[in-house]
Amino acid sequence: MPKKPEKSHAHEQRGLVISYHGSTVEVEIADGRVVPCHLRRNQGLPVVGDIVRWQPEAGDGSGIVLGIVPRRSVLGRADGRGRMKPLAANIDLLVIVMAPPPIFSAHLVDRYLAAAELLGVQPVLVINKMDLLDAAAQQALETGLQCYRDIPYPVVLSSITSKNGLADLTAVLRGKCGVLVGPSGVGKSSLISALGSEEDIRVGDVTPRGAGKHTTTATRFYHLQGGGALIDSPGVREFNLWPVTKAEVLRSFREFQDYLSGCRFRDCTHAVEPGCAVQQAVADGRISQQRFKSYQELLKLSIKPDDQYKS
Ligand code: GDP
Ligand code: ZN
Repeated sequence: MPKKPEKSHAHEQRGLVISYHGSTVEVEIADGRVVPCHLRRNQGLPVVGDIVRWQPEAGDGSGIVLGIVPRRSVLGRADGRGRMKPLAANIDLLVIVMAPPPIFSAHLVDRYLAAAELLGVQPVLVINKMDLLDAAAQQALETGLQCYRDIPYPVVLSSITSKNGLADLTAVLRGKCGVLVGPSGVGKSSLISALGSEEDIRVGDVTPRGAGKHTTTATRFYHLQGGGALIDSPGVREFNLWPVTKAEVLRSFREFQDYLSGCRFRDCTHAVEPGCAVQQAVADGRISQQRFKSYQELLKLSIKPDDQYKS
């Protein structure tokens, strides 16, 4: 029987992109098998987390990607020309991993939280390595975290060593797909080893075919024992949304939004103006000083003019 013309897509199926190596993506299919699929030229590039339409190619167990199913969210990085380069798709949670001080930085946390807000992805703040703190230091950290709990953002305190908090994290991730972000050394890889399904971790250690191309830049999708999933990507781990506009910085501070209508000036930047409801809320203790300080610092970094935004 002659081969069907490609256009008919007679054997079209759907699958999940779990990793990416140059011109090939690994697609997990309905029965759990992983099929290497080639990309066609002039095709939108899939990223990890994408659901793709694909069909088998003749004989060798590989497939070809036909198209990407519309994404419900996408996490990207500015490509230097002001455009967003997608890094991971269909994310429900931005899992911001930090370690206790001195790595912990409220400013960095606020930056990641702002990015989550602007991306429209729910953030979860994880402070790992809690076993390194004595009771007094834990108490001090808790005090510093209260402003996040008040907003409210979910906060999980964890330790790979003592296993504390791992069940909480599993519960937060159940049925969801999270992407790990945070500075290096805080325990992101360790969290995947602790929460991931054994099979995935084994697969992730294997050097894929087409040796040479694949280095440490591989992004991977991990199923978790608790029913959720995590995407880990060196490119995403320390991703950066900046530059953004002043309006975007303001929009990214969730707890400020209730006060904006109370300012005397319509174009209030909530930094130095008199009659500012946001500054009043800071003075009254309804908005945290730390968050306001981060806001002011991020405003200074918002070098992108407002009128360039809108594309
Ligand atoms: P990543 O760079 O964020 O992926 O961090 P890693 O997972 O590679 O962890 C960095 C180091 O911290 C490793 O030596 C881990 O064994 C260690 N580590 C990870 N989690 C914990 C923890 O909860 N407690 C302690 N004490 N060490 C941890
Ligand atoms: Zn104001």
